[in-house]
Amino acid sequence: MGMMSGKKVVIFGVANKRSIAWGIAQALLREGATLALNYQNDRMEESVRKLCAELPGDTFLAPCDVTVPGDIDKFFSKLGSEFGPLDGLVHSIAFAKREELGGNFVDTSWDGYQLAQHVSAWSLIGLAKGAMPLMEGRDGSIVCLSYYGAEKVVQNYNVMGVAKAALESSMRYLANDVGPRGVRVNAISAGPIKTVSAMGVADFGSLLEGMAQKAPLRRNIDQMDVGNTATFLLSDLARGITGQTIYVDAGYSILGA
Ligand code: NAD
Repeated sequence: MGMMSGKKVVIFGVANKRSIAWGIAQALLREGATLALNYQNDRMEESVRKLCAELPGDTFLAPCDVTVPGDIDKFFSKLGSEFGPLDGLVHSIAFAKREELGGNFVDTSWDGYQLAQHVSAWSLIGLAKGAMPLMEGRDGSIVCLSYYGAEKVVQNYNVMGVAKAALESSMRYLANDVGPRGVRVNAISAGPIKTVSAMGVADFGSLLEGMAQKAPLRRNIDQMDVGNTATFLLSDLARGITGQTIYVDAGYSILGA
C-alpha cells in the first residue's frame, strides 16, 4: 500500500509530459493517490485529455484558467460534486510575457507585472480558497512551486522572480491562516528543469549548465526529484511541516560567492 493510498489530490499545471506537474502526478499515482487535473483552455484540452487517458484509473479533468473570472469557482463546484472531498492541492502554474523574461528589469511593464502576479502568485490564494471547503476535516496539504530567483537576483528571471517572492510570502500567510483548520501549505523551490515555461527565460541553458557544474550534487534535478518531494509534503509523513520552502535543487542554494 502506498503512502498516498486513499488520498485525493487535485493538480493544477499539467500541460505536457515535460511539465513538473506531470512528474508530481506520476509520483502520487505510484503511491496510490486518486487524481484530478485541470487544463488551462480549449487549446490545451486535447493534449491534456490524451495524457489523462494514459493514467491508471479514472482521472477527473476540467478546465480552469486562473485569470478568467468565475473559472476557479466553476472548477471547484464541479470537483466537489464529481470528485468529492480533497486531501491535497498542487499549484504548479506560472506565466510571464516572454519579453519580460530577459533584458533590463527596469523595463518591466505594469501589464506584464500584473499578469505575472495574477497567474503565478495570486492564483495560489484563489485556488486555496476554492479547495478549503473540500478539505474540511481532512488534514489537507497544499504545495506550490517556486524558484531561487524569488530570493536572489537570477539573470533574466526578472518579473517572475518578484512573482515567486510574492508566491512564497503568500504561502506563509496562507499556512498561518488555514493551519487552525488542519491544512498545511508549503513551497518547493526547484532547480531549473527544461520545460516549456522555463524555455521562455532568456538563456535558460546557462542556468542548467551552471547548476550541473556548481551544485554540491554536480547534477541537474528532474521532474521525479520534485514529484517525490511533493508527494512527501502531501503525505501524512510531513504532518508537522507547514509554511516552509523546501529546496529540491541538488544543494545549489547553499552556495555563497
Ligand atoms: P509548464 O509550462 O509545463 O507548466 C506551466 C503550467 O502553467 C502549464 O500547465 C500552463 O497551462 C499553466 N498556466 C499558465 N497560465 C495559466 C493560467 N492563466 N491558468 C491556469 N494555468 C496556467 O512549466 P513547469 O516548468 O512545469 O512549471 C510549473 C511550475 O514550476 C511553475 O510555477 C514554474 O514557475 C515552477 N518552476 C519551474 C522550474 C523550471 O525550471 N522548469 C523551476 C522552479 C519552479
